[in-house]
Amino acid sequence: MFDTVIRRGQIIDGTGRAATVGDVGIVDGRIAAIGVDLGEAVMTIDATGLTVVPGFVDVHTHFDGQATWDSALEPSTPHGVTTVVMGNCGVGFAPVRRGDEDRLIELMEGVEDIPGAALHEGMTWGWESFPDYLDTLESRRWAADVATQIPHGSLRRFVMGDRSTGGNGATVDEIEALAKLTREAVEAGAFGFTTSRTIGHTSVDGIPVPGTFAADDELFALARAVRDGGGRIFEVAPAGIMPTDDPAVVARESDWMGRMAAETGLTATHIVIQQQSDPQRWRREMAASAEWRRRGARMIPLVAGRPFGVLMAWELRHPFRFRPSYEALRHLPHSEQVAQLGRPEVRSAILSERPSLGSEKDRLSSAFQASILPYCYALGEVPDYEPYPDTSLGALAEATGASTEELAYDAMLGAAGRKMLMWPVFNFAEANHDALYEQMQDPDAVLGLADGGAHCGAICDASMPTYMLTHWIRDRARGPRLDLEEAVRRLTSHTAALYGLSDRGRIAEGLRADINVIDLDGLTMHGPRVSYDLPAGGLRILQDATGYRVTMVNGVITRRDDSDTGARPGRLLRNMS
Ligand SMILES: [Zn+2]
Repeated sequence: MFDTVIRRGQIIDGTGRAATVGDVGIVDGRIAAIGVDLGEAVMTIDATGLTVVPGFVDVHTHFDGQATWDSALEPSTPHGVTTVVMGNCGVGFAPVRRGDEDRLIELMEGVEDIPGAALHEGMTWGWESFPDYLDTLESRRWAADVATQIPHGSLRRFVMGDRSTGGNGATVDEIEALAKLTREAVEAGAFGFTTSRTIGHTSVDGIPVPGTFAADDELFALARAVRDGGGRIFEVAPAGIMPTDDPAVVARESDWMGRMAAETGLTATHIVIQQQSDPQRWRREMAASAEWRRRGARMIPLVAGRPFGVLMAWELRHPFRFRPSYEALRHLPHSEQVAQLGRPEVRSAILSERPSLGSEKDRLSSAFQASILPYCYALGEVPDYEPYPDTSLGALAEATGASTEELAYDAMLGAAGRKMLMWPVFNFAEANHDALYEQMQDPDAVLGLADGGAHCGAICDASMPTYMLTHWIRDRARGPRLDLEEAVRRLTSHTAALYGLSDRGRIAEGLRADINVIDLDGLTMHGPRVSYDLPAGGLRILQDATGYRVTMVNGVITRRDDSDTGARPGRLLRNMS
């Protein structure tokens, strides 16, 4: 007798093997049998015409704060994600000294655009060391399993205080302390260590995060500590993510990461994105990485699977902020604001003004957004993240004679004032997905940039798994698509294996019953939407999907027909290797 049998589904087991049709039987949260016409069950899920795949393992999220107050882990979980790895990019909340909490909030707010007020109100704190943080998380329950990594930023702040930022090198004693705490964190269950080396990752005050300029002696000591503690991952947001990064530093990133991976046996993961300003550099980065792998070092590119879509809308940041006629309406409830914005005299007043209110930083930010409008695209209810270049605001302006500001203004008034514009800031230099496609042809590159929980006011790419199963296997018209089994493998066993999670990521007997039952033909990714459901009424962007009939974590149904069931089987994962 099974607890649950999922019957007659198209089973894609996550290994890349061809789909089969059959039943999956579950007992005690584990997959107990796979076959045809399995016996009786307490609960039966009819999967006729549906596809049964492992739960998705998302290795790049920023739920470090959210996981202390929230159990749903949106925006990732509505997209079939059953395991999240957080603590990426060198930012997080442990270790922390009493009284230093605000510094870490400022880091997270600056790097990942998670509202400081939400973190202030939402976070429970009460820990100091990384192992204490894990104990706090241990008592929590979520809609997905949660794995951690120790971030360089909080670690360096803990050890070096105000000396942790800028070019200050760590002393021998400080390096020893950093390494000791890292080893402690990993021994307690962190899966690895993460660091950011791009000057694009700054605190709210614009200062690059602690660790950005760390020298080799420090980085290598930390890597040895991860190895000695039994950890496996050293994640790097490398210099070069931003076009403004120092070219001399960018040039030697692959070198130290490769040497570090070779010496320690750790897996060095590094973010790869296509830059507008140097659209071929990702090839050199991935080639260097492949060369290190040929020499036996585990160096793994993390790729995005879609462009980084910075969003604009009246409720988000947009180019008309800090213009007097707009600011006069800003306090109004959304619907009234939109009614006012639709009046011709208001429109022409706002369009004729320049940003003149707010701080200098505010005005620059608004002017910057106006400057990128030519590269923006209006998103439909079912958004197209690979839009044709002749639909950019710049191309439309040329074709129609209207200005990009006029086009943006009118577009944002669509959908009752909720239509969004998207600026594909990375991975869209050639205005198509050809570079992304090529990146995903590298058998070792891992999908790892969905950024769930981060960039609340500007980006929502946590829907990446749904994008893989809609655009990449079914809808893409502008180039080759991916094979379904391969797309599923990349979302499941491939990411799970990177983190050594051998108990999930495949549909196989004995493994955890982390499973999605999906209506692949009907699967739809809807447009991003603004929600004010963070603590303190904080804003974030969410994105819905329809077509996930069942999502199951450890045999428990967490989502049914695209709705949260309220079940919270998710637990803290500790690396026990
Ligand atoms: Zn990140």
